[in-house]
Amino acid sequence: MHMNKTVTLLIPCYNEEESLPLLYDTLVPIMDDARYDWELLFINDGSTDHTLSAIQALREKDPRISYIDLSRNFGKERAMLAGFDYAQGDCVVILDADLQDPPSLVPEMLRYWEEGYEDVYAKRRSRGKEGWLRKKLSLAYYSLLQKTTRVEILQNVGDFRLLDRKCIEALKQIRENERYTKGMFCWIGFKKKEILFDRGDRVVGKSSFNFASLFNLGIDGITSFTTAPLRMSTILGFIISLGAFLMMMFFLLKRLIFGDPVQGFSALIVVILFLGGIQLLSLGIIGEYIGRIFNETKNRPVYLVNTYQGREKN
Ligand code: UDP
Ligand code: MG
Repeated sequence: MHMNKTVTLLIPCYNEEESLPLLYDTLVPIMDDARYDWELLFINDGSTDHTLSAIQALREKDPRISYIDLSRNFGKERAMLAGFDYAQGDCVVILDADLQDPPSLVPEMLRYWEEGYEDVYAKRRSRGKEGWLRKKLSLAYYSLLQKTTRVEILQNVGDFRLLDRKCIEALKQIRENERYTKGMFCWIGFKKKEILFDRGDRVVGKSSFNFASLFNLGIDGITSFTTAPLRMSTILGFIISLGAFLMMMFFLLKRLIFGDPVQGFSALIVVILFLGGIQLLSLGIIGEYIGRIFNETKNRPVYLVNTYQGREKN
């Protein structure tokens, strides 16, 4: 049917030895039904368990499997870029190894791709088992990001999507070290199509994103897509200076007209501490951006590959 087109399934893996056989067993029947030529590209992101040998075992019995073994753990964002660089398909579908992104959606994505959509992304209708606080915080975070960035960053949309070769070529050009891929998908543009799904829970193992790593990813999202915090500290500085100036005039006049001596040691301390706090905060914000400039100017490779085993043509 569409035998001439190749689909790459890109799967970043970090300590996923248990999920891989399950994932393979679910994916293969679906992909064989879809009747495309396909490649399963695993990226072993410096796993500390037997993920690599699990991948190699799968490759032994199925030549449509290829893999990249990174030299250490680089994080999912960078692992995905490695995948974009090595993917051979006419389109790429990014999937989590833990089956939280249901492979059963892939045929629907492929249908939209055939219709001419270049970026078919899956939006979560529900978020599976997650804490109340995590849900609330994520909601607040996205509305903040939305208000301050010029590109639209979609809420409840993860990395689970189908990307046309055009999008992959575009993403390959974005070689930032501190990556916020979710924002990049929106930034590149192209013809997008949304489909809805219910995100399940991890089949085995546990999530490798804890609160701190999500917080860091969140900061990366803000600093790589908006300079609004810098603007904010400028505005804040302006308002406070204006207030201080008015206050100064007020006390000066009071002194000149009524001869009242200035009083209030505690008020003074409060003002000093408040200003000190604001100054540190602004410095911190500037520091975040300078840190990023520092990291980007070093111009290091985004990831390093230990071995790459390509698909054997069949
Ligand atoms: N992952 C990765 N490198 C990392 C952390 C995670 O490649 O440093 C992969 C992981 O194997 C999985 C996907 O990214 O396929 C999503 O990770 P996880 O399920 O831990 O995150 P969550 O679903 O909780 O967001
Ligand atoms: Mg997961």
